[in-house]
Amino acid sequence: MQDNAFPVAGQVGYVAIEQPFGVQPPKVHCPICGQQQFVERDDEYLETPCEHLAFVFGGDEDEFVYASADFTERFARFDAELDARFPDEASRGGEDYEEASSFYRDLFPRRLAEMGYGAHLLALRITYGGMAEGSPVWFSDVYGFDYAAIREDDAP
Ligand SMILES: [Zn+2]
Repeated sequence: MQDNAFPVAGQVGYVAIEQPFGVQPPKVHCPICGQQQFVERDDEYLETPCEHLAFVFGGDEDEFVYASADFTERFARFDAELDARFPDEASRGGEDYEEASSFYRDLFPRRLAEMGYGAHLLALRITYGGMAEGSPVWFSDVYGFDYAAIREDDAP
């Protein structure tokens, strides 16, 4: 990836989709090449990421369940900067740290922008709900597709 070869302009594309309660989450395909990103086989979900997938944030797991090499690098830089800004336990107790480190809702696109992503990134936030042990539960997964990862040979 040549992050510095061209200016990052515009805001991250961030789209929040909410499914009706009880509807299974969709099988997410890459908007660039059409590849399905997870496949179910023998009751197991297997990651089948294409090269355009930057990350998957699993709402159930509450963490990134997939990260490309590029995203991993960006996240490590973000994390190091966070460590520098909030170097000790005491500074991490407050709201400032929460605001600077959290990845939920509106903070998600802000974090992506801080990692250097611009309008070449499309983040799809998909919220779905169902019953679990007698109670309704909702989760949001976020899929990030990087249009800067398109290569010449992707052209038809
Ligand atoms: Zn793709």
